[in-house]
Amino acid sequence: MAGADCVFCKIVQGQIPAEIVWQSPWAIAFLDINPANPGHVLLVLREHYATVDTIPPALFGSALQELPRLADAVMRATGAEGLNVVLNNGKVAGQVIDHVHFHLIPRRSGDSVTIRWEPGTYRDSAEVTSTAERIRAALSTGGQ
Ligand code: AMP
Ligand code: ZN
Repeated sequence: MAGADCVFCKIVQGQIPAEIVWQSPWAIAFLDINPANPGHVLLVLREHYATVDTIPPALFGSALQELPRLADAVMRATGAEGLNVVLNNGKVAGQVIDHVHFHLIPRRSGDSVTIRWEPGTYRDSAEVTSTAERIRAALSTGGQ
């Protein structure tokens, strides 16, 4: 179902234009209107899900199966030496459009794109263990 006033739903439905480079029954890919580098592509699920944690796993698998081929094509077409695949999930993580999408950003050495964070550390080994344990417990109870 389409999200109310969702820009990406409108692109999927052909209501607003986009430079589409690839389509499947589950997903489409088009040029980002404000690219980090030329050839910056957005891979977008056709169906409206706001965040990745709400997508049915089977649909996610279908939609993403072309990601390797798309990444290869973007790199070859732009002559990029590398590529960042980025998914901003939630406002605090930088998500602006609430419709799940992957950024494929072609990279060249010396370009001006910055995708980085300061490497952190755990307080001690107990924090490592308890953090991993909380995630394992969340995987085995509730959620998807
Ligand atoms: P995010 O911050 O991960 O939600 O990224 C949203 C991305 O969508 C940004 O990089 C925008 O430049 C891009 N964007 C917004 N509107 C359009 C549009 N109409 N066509 C193509 N890309 C868009
Ligand atoms: Zn949408």
